[in-house]
Amino acid sequence: MRYDVIIIGAGPGGIFSAYELLQKNSDLKVAVFEAGHALDRRKCPIDGDKIKTCIGCKNCSIMSGFGGAGAFSDGKYNITNDFGGTLYEYIGKKQALDLMHYVDEINMKYGGEGTKLYSTAGSKFKTLCIQNDLHLLDASVRHLGTDINYVVLENLYSYLKEKVDFFFDTYVETVCKLADGFEVKCKDNTYECTKCVVSVGRVGSKWMEKVCKELRINTKSNRVDIGVRVELPATVFAHLTDELYESKIVYRTEKYGDKVRTFCMNPKGAVVNENTNGIITVNGHSYEDPAKHTENTNFALLVAKNFSEPFKDSNGYGESIARLSNMLGGGVIVQRFGDLIRGRRSTPSRIEEAFITPTLNATPGDLSLVLPKRILDGIIEMIYALDKVAPGTANEDTLLYGVEVKFYNMEVEVDDKLETCHKGMYIIGDGSGITHSLSHASASGVHVARDIVEQFAM
Ligand SMILES: Cc1cc2nc3c(=O)[nH]c(=O)nc-3n(C[C@H](O)[C@H](O)[C@H](O)COP(=O)(O)OP(=O)(O)OC[C@H]3O[C@@H](n4cnc5c(N)ncnc54)[C@H](O)[C@@H]3O)c2cc1C
Repeated sequence: MRYDVIIIGAGPGGIFSAYELLQKNSDLKVAVFEAGHALDRRKCPIDGDKIKTCIGCKNCSIMSGFGGAGAFSDGKYNITNDFGGTLYEYIGKKQALDLMHYVDEINMKYGGEGTKLYSTAGSKFKTLCIQNDLHLLDASVRHLGTDINYVVLENLYSYLKEKVDFFFDTYVETVCKLADGFEVKCKDNTYECTKCVVSVGRVGSKWMEKVCKELRINTKSNRVDIGVRVELPATVFAHLTDELYESKIVYRTEKYGDKVRTFCMNPKGAVVNENTNGIITVNGHSYEDPAKHTENTNFALLVAKNFSEPFKDSNGYGESIARLSNMLGGGVIVQRFGDLIRGRRSTPSRIEEAFITPTLNATPGDLSLVLPKRILDGIIEMIYALDKVAPGTANEDTLLYGVEVKFYNMEVEVDDKLETCHKGMYIIGDGSGITHSLSHASASGVHVARDIVEQFAM
């Protein structure tokens, strides 16, 4: 079977590639191969009753399937070049922002209308942050919420499925270069295409590494972000989240000069498990629907670790730390800030006595046995710094879940079209190491689709 375009991965990058291809040329024969399930079959088995923690499914429904890692996310589309990836380095700042706005328009058209667009522009909070040695990054944030995000994905799928061949539960084993295109090999079948868009996300990082080796595509990798997810009463951050919803705040530690930042803020949200290649880490989300709000707000505090030569395996380093928490806690560990500061573990009774109810069933334990001192010191310093702009952050009962790891895919060598050294093969989204967010991944999909359509028109 031969297609004009094969897209590998049905996350935001793949979906927006397919969407834009059809918008610009509906005659193109397009197929999408996705290792995970169709959207309506994606279900994490954790029900809080019979199954309380992650059982390590072969295909994690949180990370894989139509919608990719973003399907059950908070649906926060950050429209900014300040974080979420370095797409602008390849395609220019204006083009990157224009594409992110375009993605926002599509999201609004397919079910997101009425959702709020927050902005840091003119926020008084910025001044307060600077006065306290904290730096608020600029962004506009469209918060779809987990529920509306799902509706948008359903609507996009209804539109795309009429024109695109979707192959779900179909893991692509490898991609080979042909004289006139590419061969995409799955377990039972082989398909050919003229253009191939690879958008395998973070979950496809190991696969991407293998394919790059086979096809001799240059890569570089040296970063991993490690930290904890903080959960506290929503009122502590309400003055900030009511105005900005999501705020990216950066702090430089006094002790080591490391940068610690807030990441993925979920007002009135829930903390969740995340399974990356069998390792259980922590994440968070929240719903737009007030009926699904919790009493708590959660966000990550991450310390970026950039390694220099000769060490190359930054993701391996992050994995080892996450494995340690899995070894000690059987999954994610939770600790009260007060216990951490006193150098004692949290116990089930200490968690139960706290004036906050955890939204994730994690194992009470001691994060100082898991996180390297330098990282933990940075997190503690940042919590005290945040306490000055959001009093209550450094409360005894503030919960810290560990570990949260942001694995960065190695960065692949692509040009300003996001095309590899093999003409016709594009690598986009988080799998390229260039994007780390919904809006950047989606924008990269639109960018390559436009180039492909132009090339077919030549
Ligand atoms: C719980 C959670 C919450 C998040 N919240 C936010 C948020 O609020 N805002 C934000 O900006 N970002 C958020 N993110 C990150 C965001 O989801 C990702 O940046 C985004 O999904 C990346 O899109 P992508 O298309 O590049 O990759 P992905 O969404 O990861 O999709 C890649 C797809 O490729 C498939 N695949 C991989 N390998 C193969 C293969 N060999 N064959 C076939 N298919 C394959 C995978 O199954 C997957 O479905 C969140 C992530 C998680 C896990």
